Amino acid sequence: MPGLNDFDRTIAFSDAAIHRLRSHKHPAYPRNYELWYTYATGYNAALNRAINQALEREATISEAELDLLYETYLSPLRLSERVDHIGARILAEIAEVTDLLKNARESSNDYATSLESISTEVAGQGEASQALGNLVRRLLTETGAMVSRTRDLERQLATTQDEMQELHNTLEAIRAESLTDPLTGLANRKFLQGTLERSLADAATGQIFSILIIDIDHFKTFNDNYGHLTGDQVLRLVALALKQNVKGQDLAARFGGEEFAIVLPETPISGAAAVAERIRRAVMAKDLVKRSTGEHLGRVTVSIGVATWRVGDSAQTIIDRADRCMYGAKRNGRNLVISEDDPSVADVAPVRVA
Ligand code: GH3
Ligand code: MG
Ligand code: MG
Repeated sequence: MPGLNDFDRTIAFSDAAIHRLRSHKHPAYPRNYELWYTYATGYNAALNRAINQALEREATISEAELDLLYETYLSPLRLSERVDHIGARILAEIAEVTDLLKNARESSNDYATSLESISTEVAGQGEASQALGNLVRRLLTETGAMVSRTRDLERQLATTQDEMQELHNTLEAIRAESLTDPLTGLANRKFLQGTLERSLADAATGQIFSILIIDIDHFKTFNDNYGHLTGDQVLRLVALALKQNVKGQDLAARFGGEEFAIVLPETPISGAAAVAERIRRAVMAKDLVKRSTGEHLGRVTVSIGVATWRVGDSAQTIIDRADRCMYGAKRNGRNLVISEDDPSVADVAPVRVA
């Protein structure tokens, strides 16, 4: 809650953050500032631990390290997850309170019914019971008022519940947007990262997975010849070919510029190579026509590297192996799939048996 001390307190945090930015020579971009500000508050214990450990290793923190810290401990994605979690808890609590109120209203109704029957009985007892009858009627009126107040409260809660649900949906939409590549509609790199982390965790319990790295061949020439907008159109076309050739739990993502990645859960290297081959053919089969002029632009091809999870893998190591295979495919003439068990890359990617 904002109080009188907020000004002094926040300025002190801000000063500490600026001091850190200066001493580590980090540009004062909002996210760098946010990171050091959060550090100064001490609110994010995990972040502070990570920074302190980094500072024990080395006197200063590199900008790359700072980026990683931000992604790990502060990224908006994580924030939205936290808000989401809280939102779900509030919704559950509202539902609980609504139930309680409903029960209260129902027992009040039962009570009113009993009072009514007493009132009828008393009415039949002659003059002596006049005063008692009045009393019971007053009780009835009060009970009626209570029931109607409870009903109002129930209605208010229902409105709050609707508003919370709407908030929840908005958050869901924002999250989906923050995980989607706007040009191709595929998952973006951040989404890929999250999926890879989960796949790595699953792999530790026995569910292996494979990954494909897909790079468009001679795309620069294509862009130079036909322009960036047509290039974008090709990116969308390749993305479509990826979408059409994966299924179920497979995840196709735009990894960067004209590079894509696909995570294939529960798929051994042979299966992954087959998917890659299907994609390579699908892309090659597309006849590119410039939408605005109807001009035929020839064909575009892709080179694909395939790697499968190994004991001890991190996201980086498995991507690196798939990447090396993809570059192997480029060296071997492009429009090609190379797996890490292919002899042509054996020298660069020694197989470690689990
Ligand atoms: P290689 O076969 O060796 O992969 O050759 P390449 O030309 O595809 O590779 P290089 O990495 O040299 O060039 C990639 C090019 O992709 C650079 C840039 O022109 C293009 N590119 C990257 N991102 C985008 C994008 O978002 N839209 C468009 N239109 N082009 C992009
Ligand atoms: Mg490339
Ligand atoms: Mg390329």
